[in-house]
Amino acid sequence: MTHTFQGGVHPNYMKAPEVPISVVTPPAQVVIPMVQHIGAPCKPLVAKGDYVKLGQKIGENPAPVSAPVHASVSGTVVAVEPRPHPLGDMIMSVVIENDFQDTPCEDLAPLTEKELKDPEAILARMREAGVVGMGGAMFPTAFKVRSGVGKVDKLIINGAECEPYLNGDHLTMLNFPEQLLKGIELVRIAADVDKAYYGIEINKQDAIDLLNSLHPENYGIEIVPEAVKYPQGGEKMQIKAVTGREVKPGGLPAGVGCTVVSTRTCYAIYQACYEGKPVIERIVTVGGSAVDGPHNALTRVGTPLGYLAEQCGGFVKDLKKVVLGGPMMGICATSLDAPTIKGTAGVLYFTEKEDRMVDDPQCIRCGKCITVCPMKLEPVFMYMYYSKGDYENLEKYHVMDCFECGSCSFNCPARMPLTHAFKTAKLMFQAKAAKEKAAAEAKAAKEAQK
Ligand code: SF4
Ligand code: SF4
Repeated sequence: MTHTFQGGVHPNYMKAPEVPISVVTPPAQVVIPMVQHIGAPCKPLVAKGDYVKLGQKIGENPAPVSAPVHASVSGTVVAVEPRPHPLGDMIMSVVIENDFQDTPCEDLAPLTEKELKDPEAILARMREAGVVGMGGAMFPTAFKVRSGVGKVDKLIINGAECEPYLNGDHLTMLNFPEQLLKGIELVRIAADVDKAYYGIEINKQDAIDLLNSLHPENYGIEIVPEAVKYPQGGEKMQIKAVTGREVKPGGLPAGVGCTVVSTRTCYAIYQACYEGKPVIERIVTVGGSAVDGPHNALTRVGTPLGYLAEQCGGFVKDLKKVVLGGPMMGICATSLDAPTIKGTAGVLYFTEKEDRMVDDPQCIRCGKCITVCPMKLEPVFMYMYYSKGDYENLEKYHVMDCFECGSCSFNCPARMPLTHAFKTAKLMFQAKAAKEKAAAEAKAAKEAQK
């Protein structure tokens, strides 16, 4: 029996897990942004002229919702300055001139046998190694797991990898199955639960069979086969598919006793605890018809997007846009100088032909966007209120519950820019809330002075 959720779509998956993992030669300079996570930005720990080793911590912030960053090559720091960030803006970054020696930093030793069974030691290591949600959310994992302890009874590992093109999770399952099971076991110990449920879409049957052959029950893991449907890998969809529980509007997974951790994150936790390796590289799927691909490229964090394309054979057609992640939820990069970061699961170099934008689209009131929304929202009405600038009604139609999965836009025959509108609206509401909070705090501070 396969498990799933209500709504969703069936895009052309364009996956190529049969393409083996290739190793990208690290660039002459890596650019390591101080923001590679949700939460407080890191402060650089190094200055221009310093020599750094591979894996050395170069940015940190002690705030609980933060994650340190590490050097992905050894060499000399040539700049500490704002540089283009893949998600937009100029962000403080450490630029390292690669000496191509990969001189290792030995600050993080592998955990001892005793520590590998100790939740506190595992959580501390997750943080110190800079582990964040590598499915793309980049939420600091130690904080996420720790805050669920005592409240969460179901740990779910996300193995759906439902976004078109992306293969990194599937290849991790096939190439590092034992390490992955050990990584999941570490998260299970840290989360203080007896069992982890590993939800995997059945288009990865080879990986399901391989993992089952390694007796996941010995690690406290059950493999849950899931129907192939986008966005099966959304946290709320995983929870529904695996447990039948529903996260209410505005609610969080922990509110229904669940924590969801991605496949690649569990593998990073294995590397951090068993190998003493911080997050400095990941498999990045490189695709799109502007390059000759696809490639499943093991890429150092901090590799510029233009350099990555060159290493994958260069541009073979005119580039229209660069999408980071998959085509459904991905974000457009604004500069080829921007680097890959911990959350970069894919880089898609698209031509004109792959661009779905049309001039002056008109809604035909077909309702197809409503039938596929996995959050049971009404995108057609949300868009209408957004266009009119009626933000009161937009909020009443729960735009903040939209997690920007792109299913409505994908299913819209008129190609209305629905998801883009909701993304913009949510940013606007968030900015308004932040402004109101700041004003309330300033008022309270003034009152306190009287
Ligand atoms: S409204 Fe949001 S959550 Fe619903 S389908 Fe569209 S993008 Fe996905
Ligand atoms: S799917 Fe597109 S055209 Fe149809 S109702 Fe929704 S927004 Fe309008």
